[in-house]
Amino acid sequence: MKIAFIGLGDIGEPMAIHLARDPFDLVVWNRTSSKAEDFARNHKAKVAPTPAEAVSDAAVVITCLPSSVEVEAVLHGDNGILDAMRKGSVLIDCTSGDPPTSRSIAAELGGRGVEFIDAPVSGGTSAAKAGTLTVMWGGEATVFERVRPVVEAFGKKIVHAGPVGSGDALKAVNNALLAVHILSTAEGLAILAKAGVDPKVALEVINASSGRSNSSENLIPQRVLTRAFPRTFRLALLEKDIAIAAVMAEDLHARTPVISLTAERFHEAREKLGETADHVEAVKMVEDENGVELK
Ligand code: NDP
Repeated sequence: MKIAFIGLGDIGEPMAIHLARDPFDLVVWNRTSSKAEDFARNHKAKVAPTPAEAVSDAAVVITCLPSSVEVEAVLHGDNGILDAMRKGSVLIDCTSGDPPTSRSIAAELGGRGVEFIDAPVSGGTSAAKAGTLTVMWGGEATVFERVRPVVEAFGKKIVHAGPVGSGDALKAVNNALLAVHILSTAEGLAILAKAGVDPKVALEVINASSGRSNSSENLIPQRVLTRAFPRTFRLALLEKDIAIAAVMAEDLHARTPVISLTAERFHEAREKLGETADHVEAVKMVEDENGVELK
């Protein structure tokens, strides 16, 4: 099966590796071409010089880009994929996108006989490397069944969220919860540090109690207390996700003050820490504001 993969970023690259083997026939394109060339040197894949050439022969096209804005750009920009995709092919967008843009892309492609599935992923770069991502997809079941083996190459838990855009919606809310947990856990530990309680002792109790989360069990012990802060998922991307959730809430007239405030705080964190900071570095903002270091 001929597959085109567009976007070899932090998570796209380890996902694409699972498709660089039989029975797949993989072509990659990346904006920074050296990354695509390195990929093809190390894996069974060809490099296409443009997005259009990557997709012209593909039965399945996968995009994994920062946001729906870049997906639109790759569709409509110079050498874009919109005019190049084959009738009957399927675009699986693994970007954590926004639901209205995904619906509009699906409608535009549908008019040309091309199917669309939004299929954001969760589990981070470690699950991407292991091929055990969770995939939440939106679209038609009959279309998805045609491409299931492709998604199963990198996904383990694969869940139908609903019509097109539902995968994006679920992903945005999941990541809003991640953002809330990171900040609230950091705030709680800052209070305790000021009160003289060692963060390691605090986490030992919290992680055996009802205040625990993935942030308290994994992210903060492994990345904050060690001061390692590895870059696996950019803070700017989490800011984008929680903003999608906040806009959805507004559009749906849902009252969600905790999510709105967390969206504002992540915006502030991105302005302070920049485009390349990791999402867990948001803890540094809480540390600075409270004059503590969690270690
Ligand atoms: P990165 O920022 O690491 O990579 C983004 C990719 O998009 C790169 O290949 C980049 O190319 C390309 N790109 C950026 N702008 C453009 C553009 N204008 N035109 C064409 N290509 C462009 O992001 P991630 O890989 O981390 O994330 C990708 C998606 O997956 C995001 O939606 C993110 O929210 C989601 N995600 C990420 C996870 C993670 O752990 N990292 C976990 C779950 C979901 P170039 O190499 O030239 O910069």
